[in-house]
Order: sequence, then structure tokens, then C-alpha cells
Amino acid sequence: MQVYVNGALLPKEQAVVSVFDHGLLYGDGVFEGIRVYGGKVFLLGEHIERLYESARAIRLVMPISPAEMTAAVEKTVAANGIRDGYVRLVVTRGSGSLGLDIRKTSDPQVIVIADTISLYPAELYEKGMQIITASTIRNHPAALSPRIKSLNYLNNILAKIEATDAGAPEAIMLNHKGDVAECTGDNLFLVKKGELLTPPVDSGVLDGVTRRAVMRLAEGAGVTVREVTLQRHDVYVADECFLTGTAAEVIPVVGVDGRMIGDGKPGPVTQDLRQRFQRLTRGELTL
Ligand code: PMP
Repeated sequence: MQVYVNGALLPKEQAVVSVFDHGLLYGDGVFEGIRVYGGKVFLLGEHIERLYESARAIRLVMPISPAEMTAAVEKTVAANGIRDGYVRLVVTRGSGSLGLDIRKTSDPQVIVIADTISLYPAELYEKGMQIITASTIRNHPAALSPRIKSLNYLNNILAKIEATDAGAPEAIMLNHKGDVAECTGDNLFLVKKGELLTPPVDSGVLDGVTRRAVMRLAEGAGVTVREVTLQRHDVYVADECFLTGTAAEVIPVVGVDGRMIGDGKPGPVTQDLRQRFQRLTRGELTL
């Protein structure tokens, strides 16, 4: 494996950062997870745009332009011969002193890792997942906006631990108001009376690239899409539920907190959107 670090492609063992890097010391940096389908980097422009917006929000001055970043991703994917896989794009603040002052950091690290992907078990896509609601709430947007895809994932990790302890693959996180936000690594959708519902970005969720794509696919299929504040109750009484994310794609949820969703099987709207999403990844559909 060859890893891109600051312009060079290095063998995995040599791809290292300083122990003084603020990415390590404080989770101070931004990242993206991106898919490769059939040798093509999927929705790369949207990921690059979000990366630069996240960087702007945390005042991280990017050392290279979006066009150079795009080229770096494509070069790394090609160098590793990845046809179907996953790219992790990371930009850290760089190394500085042990203090928090970003003025002491001078060398943001740009890292691109292209690898194969490990998925949820195929069975979960067929049968659907049983998930829980975590007691850990999603970061308050005024503390650290969930719209920023930062390296600080501790909030999500704490909720993921709750899921794992409960024997569930994922957990729903509520926001500071008690409304549904998202899962630890995925956005959440419900189907109710034929409409597709998802919490608005200002409920404190990541503006997911897959979320956006699925909303457009649904509109193209003639399904009404509404971004609305959702409560746990709405999840419990939904006809269908599914999650979206770069790694997860579209995955059905058939149980939440011990309540069966719909009839306990992946529903027709979920299955149709899943198929449309697969066609999109193969270039058979456009947005
Ligand atoms: N929410 C969170 C917290 C995530 O980490 C992710 C995965 N990056 C998502 C939602 C889904 O976003 P995307 O579709 O852009 O991968």
C-alpha cells in the first residue's frame, strides 16, 4: 500500500505524523471518507467542497488547493490499483507546541489512504438492523457543529460504545433538544405514509453526501421528501427506517429500542432507494 503524505506517495510503514501533531493531541483537523466504485471516485467534488468548508470553519488554512486535493485523491487511488474501495482523506493542523495555540502550528499534514472496504455483514442489508437510541446526545451545534467533519469523533465514539454494549451495530443520537439527530456514522431517514422524512441539518447533523444523493434520488422517483424535526416517537411509529452513509450506503433499520419498525422487514421505499443508489454508483443513473 502506498499512502499519500504531503505530496509524496510513501510505503505504509513510512507514512507517519509527528507525536506533536494537533490532530493526535486534540483531534484538531478535518477529514472525509469517500468511496471508489469501478475505479471512479464517487461524488468527489462534494466531498472536497465539504472538506474545505470544514477547514474554513475551524480556521485551518489548507496547504493545497481543492484542484490539487482532487488530483491527490485520484493519484492515490490509481497508485494502489483500487477499483472498489474507500478513501480516507485527512488534514491535520500539524505539529506545534503542547498548548492549544494554533499560531504555533505550521505544517498541516495532508494524508490520503486508499484501501479496500469492510462493510456491515451482507445479511444486515437483506434483513435490516436492530438499533438503539444512545443516552449520549449529539454535540450541541454551538459547541462543535456536527456540520464540521472534524477529527474529533469522541462524541460519536461514546454513543457507538453504547450501541456495542447493547449488541447493536449503530445508535441513534438525539440532539440537545431531545430531537432525533443522526446515527454515530450515518444519517437517518423515515418513511411515513409514502413520504420520506429526515431531520434538517439544523437539527445538528452532518450534511451527508449520501443523504443529499438519496434525497435527490427519491425526488426523481416521485417521492415527497421533507426535512422535518423528528422525535423518537416518529421513529417508533414509522413505516420504514433506513440509514445513509458513504461506508454504509443505504441500510434498512427494522427495529429501534426493541420496537419493531413497520412489519419488521425492509420496506418497499427503502428497497427501491437502495437499488437506485446502487445504479447511481454504477453510473446508470445521474442526480
Ligand atoms: N453522520 C456522521 C456523524 C458521519 O460520520 C457520516 C459518515 N461520514 C455520515 C453522517 C454520513 O455522511 P456521508 O454520506 O457524507 O458519508
